[in-house]
Amino acid sequence: MRIDLHTHTVLSDGTDTPRELIQAAAAAGLDVLAITDHDTTAGWQEAVDALPSGMTLIRGAELSCVSTSEQGWPISVHLLAYLFDPDAQALVAEQRRLRAERRERLRRMAERMAADGLPIDPEAVLASLPADGSAGRPHLARALIEAGLVSSVSEAFDKYLGSRGRYYVRRADTPVRRAVAMIAEAGGVTVLAHPWAYSRGPTVGEDVIAELAAAGLTGIEVDHPDHDPATRQRLRGLAAELGLLTTGSSDYHGANKPTPIGAETTDPEVYEQLVARATGRPPVRG
Ligand SMILES: [Zn+2]
Ligand SMILES: [Zn+2]
Repeated sequence: MRIDLHTHTVLSDGTDTPRELIQAAAAAGLDVLAITDHDTTAGWQEAVDALPSGMTLIRGAELSCVSTSEQGWPISVHLLAYLFDPDAQALVAEQRRLRAERRERLRRMAERMAADGLPIDPEAVLASLPADGSAGRPHLARALIEAGLVSSVSEAFDKYLGSRGRYYVRRADTPVRRAVAMIAEAGGVTVLAHPWAYSRGPTVGEDVIAELAAAGLTGIEVDHPDHDPATRQRLRGLAAELGLLTTGSSDYHGANKPTPIGAETTDPEVYEQLVARATGRPPVRG
């Protein structure tokens, strides 16, 4: 049984539609596939509809969360959430908070630009944002293009929107402890995604992972393309110490990343335990 528990589609930063994702999984001989787009469940239904007989779909998401370093700096943390009920009250409320927060953040960035004399109208930027939660810096990039300040989105990021630029306002993601509790409340299970992928920036330490384990975290993603053999070994040791499950996944992004679907897989026994611990949305069997 071949199991890949971390994949993306066009609903976040992958290049396959959910239907194409399922086709790619079938072509790779996978028996179980999890769809885990960033901060959305919008691809679930198309994936369910495309499921061939014999394949099982795990409905999931990869949540953008934050932890705080000892020095008080935010550390970005990705949390894989599986088999949860997306209509659970706490989740719906948090999504509403994030939507409002993301709009407010873009308004503040636009205000900083206007205060600096750039021809950007914060109210017009606010009015141009979609109401569905996908508001992000690319929307502000469009306003900069329309104002004639830059000619492309990437130029807008280079000159005005980058995290080291003077107009940048940090995004307030969900504290990871709170996300673990929220998903548990929604009947789901959580797995810390690529916890020690050092190439992506600062990572959380063993102390934070221990805290999350105590708060209800179910597992950690050990076999991930961004973990070298020594890192995998250390993570496996930590998981054993903390009583956490260990998963393996490709983090497939279609043509956006080189790793093929099914390149890393999860042990069937671990998969069975994840399913046994969840009560939200069961696996869908094709
Ligand atoms: Zn991630
Ligand atoms: Zn991912």
